[in-house]
Amino acid sequence: MEFGNRAVMVVEDHDFQRRMMLRLLKDLGVVDLVEAANGREAMEILTARATPVDVVFCDLDMPEMDGIEFISHLAEKQLALSVAVVSGMEPSILNTVETMARAYGLQVLGAIVKPLTLQELTTCLGRYVPREKDHSGYVAVKEFTPEDLKAGLARREFLAFFQPKVSFSTGELLGVEALVRWFRPGHGVVTPIYFIPSIELEGLVVPLTETLLQQTCAYLLAWQERGLHLDASVNVSMLCLSDVSIADRFNDIVRKADCDPKRITLEVTETEVMSEVAKVLNVLARLRLKGFGLSIDDFGTGYSSLQQLSNVPFTELKIDQSFVKDSPEQPRHRTIVQTSLELARKLNLKTVAEGVETRAEWDLLKSLGCEQAQGYFIARPMPGPQIPDWAQLWQAPEAQ
Ligand code: C2E
Ligand code: MG
Ligand code: MG
Repeated sequence: MEFGNRAVMVVEDHDFQRRMMLRLLKDLGVVDLVEAANGREAMEILTARATPVDVVFCDLDMPEMDGIEFISHLAEKQLALSVAVVSGMEPSILNTVETMARAYGLQVLGAIVKPLTLQELTTCLGRYVPREKDHSGYVAVKEFTPEDLKAGLARREFLAFFQPKVSFSTGELLGVEALVRWFRPGHGVVTPIYFIPSIELEGLVVPLTETLLQQTCAYLLAWQERGLHLDASVNVSMLCLSDVSIADRFNDIVRKADCDPKRITLEVTETEVMSEVAKVLNVLARLRLKGFGLSIDDFGTGYSSLQQLSNVPFTELKIDQSFVKDSPEQPRHRTIVQTSLELARKLNLKTVAEGVETRAEWDLLKSLGCEQAQGYFIARPMPGPQIPDWAQLWQAPEAQ
């Protein structure tokens, strides 16, 4: 059975609806199936289990502990790996809850408006990436100390993976984004959402960015030797940019590696703690002068705002995956994507859509005039040596 190895929980206060979901899930082959009539009961069951469940289907409007509170506990205590929201609420509320769950670090499989169909249930379960099947084998360990991070940096355990960026119009591979993973001996591979905040807190974000920049330049040259002339993007936290020596240091790293800063785009993600605005703007302007491209990452979310766009000499706008996701079905998402693209065109910025997962999203973004695509529909992030082989096999969807 396709879904036989998934542990699933249904949290729903209406007996009839809960029983119906359980029936459908059983029909789909789910064996490890638990149920609860409200959030409190669900918490008790999950806390008593030896292992977290893979998927929780959760109603929002429930007595005692509502779905929103439940999801936050679920994430904080790491009692489940993913969640799908099932509710009679209007789509915009479902959207908000979805965003919240994602912000808590949960894999979100979807937001389903009742009545739920077998098709939707199958789609949701299909979206779940089981840990053992996730080729990257990420682990969600949060137990590490600042010393572990420092030692890991010294031992070069932080390695870049690369995710292809391709042209919507020609399908051509144009570049890659470097995404860090922590290869922690004895612990597996740790995904950045778990350690970037600690890296920032411990003041280690500069050494991390420098090693990523070095690795990226080395691969650009290695790929070039195999006939691939690519550009690359490296993520830079704003925290890095309040150190005025940074522009020179980044420039030195790239030049020493025999690379041209023009081939490197720095994807800037802003954090809450941004005190030294003047210094940051100084550094960004100087990086631009030296030839680096500057991309506003996750545009439209959190602190990646219009104000940033008006102050910083950006060259690229990256539409956040939360807007790309479901844009073919969600008029609100589509409108935000469309407006962001128009804005980018008027400001003369390159446009990249991240998180393109389906053919429908590819078709829509392409028709709206977005220039570059990045996402699981094209490829997952991969180790550098795999890029040339992937490039050989890659075909734009229209050519398949
Ligand atoms: P980001 O820069 O917005 O990177 C995109 C994230 O979305 C990556 O997650 C990527 O693996 C994931 N992704 C790509 N395509 C898809 C898709 O189709 N569907 C879905 N659901 N996800 C997709 P990752 O690698 O876990 O990185 C998460 C974030 O961590 C990055 O978001 C970035 O903000 C930060 N990060 C990663 N590497 C670095 C780094 O070297 N330095 C800094 N400062 N931050 C980094
Ligand atoms: Mg990025
Ligand atoms: Mg992003």
